[in-house]
Amino acid sequence: MARVRLENITKRYGEETAVDDISLEVEDGEFVTFVGPSGCGKSTTMETVAGLTQPTEGRVYIGDDDVTTLAPKDRGVAMVFQNIALFPHMDVYENISFGLRLRTYDDEEVRRRVEQAADIVQLEGMLDRMPAEMSGGQQQRVGIARAIVRNPDVFLMDEPLANLDAKLRVHMRTELQRLHRELDATIIYVTHDQAEAMTMSNRIAVLNDGKLQQIAPPLVCYNEPTNRFVAGFIGSPSMNFADGEVVDGGLETSNFTVDLDATRLPAVSVGDTVTLGIRPEDVHLTRYADSLAAPTDPIDARTDVLEPMGDEVFVYLLLAEDVEGSMEEDPATSPNQLLMSVTPDTEIEAGQDVDVVLDRSKIHLFDADTGDALVHGITGLEGPESGTAPTEAE
Ligand code: ADP
Repeated sequence: MARVRLENITKRYGEETAVDDISLEVEDGEFVTFVGPSGCGKSTTMETVAGLTQPTEGRVYIGDDDVTTLAPKDRGVAMVFQNIALFPHMDVYENISFGLRLRTYDDEEVRRRVEQAADIVQLEGMLDRMPAEMSGGQQQRVGIARAIVRNPDVFLMDEPLANLDAKLRVHMRTELQRLHRELDATIIYVTHDQAEAMTMSNRIAVLNDGKLQQIAPPLVCYNEPTNRFVAGFIGSPSMNFADGEVVDGGLETSNFTVDLDATRLPAVSVGDTVTLGIRPEDVHLTRYADSLAAPTDPIDARTDVLEPMGDEVFVYLLLAEDVEGSMEEDPATSPNQLLMSVTPDTEIEAGQDVDVVLDRSKIHLFDADTGDALVHGITGLEGPESGTAPTEAE
């Protein structure tokens, strides 16, 4: 296995910049996922590693070698795509061994590798099946085995689970994690699905608009997002956001005020607009908030719609007296709405007046212009101590 290094990769198609100056390193044996909305440049970035796309600028290294201009077959990479395209007239054994036979390995070596790969993806006993006799998940495993037999330095996987149904996708996630562990493989994985990225990867690289936003372990992206984009993209349902004005001793949003001594935040002055972010699980009914070390002052609200999910209930809160929930408005970004998640045993119903508090230790503040994180957690910022400054994006 080998490490992969991208150095200032830019890819332009005419006027459009698909990938904008991306530099990152994937360690030997690491599972890194490129995640971001459709069109953000994930596949193009990965294709520069595979050799399927030539970067306009920048260099690609695999191990210690500069492979920027090498043909895909000379890079020691194996790819698994969304559409695995098995040969329909060949059985599983022939499909897995096809690339090896082209390379003229002797029969015994081919058989040894195919059996080992089939064992890893749990297809033993199915080697004489035809693709038409297999489920989508089994076919996808044949595609992965076909990559394994080549013994690559790096696995590149582009949305390999996208065509599978939801249940199988979740199952295959655990299989890929096991595969990663067993092979000690370097894996670069592309997905638009933040849950897939969160659950499988050592680190996730969040992309937007061709630019790398943050590369960090999943929980760091979740708890210390480097900017508002990452904060909103990672986590489902999304973080709530509300713009507010910094006043003397507080942050005033259109519906509530949070105690804040902004003189303790270097980048913030009275009169500035900053964006407050809070995740649904960090909004609490005041009557259940005894255990919070640092709650905000209670905020008046009315419950609008309740969504029972089984293990939790999403409660849409309306903050202003005279507003109705609107289907057009995204509750995450509407200043008059707040999404709260509560446990299923919580006594609450639609149309009820309630008051809620925010957990100060979980409040994020972002620069309203640039979106950059200013602080994660404002515990102590109303008093003598200071909060934690955001960590630098790696
Ligand atoms: P993602 O994988 O994140 O969905 P892509 O890397 O496929 O995004 O694409 C990034 C951007 O580059 C998109 O705007 C896409 O339209 C553009 N793009 C990708 N490939 C080509 C191409 N061959 N020619 C022109 N534009 C392209």
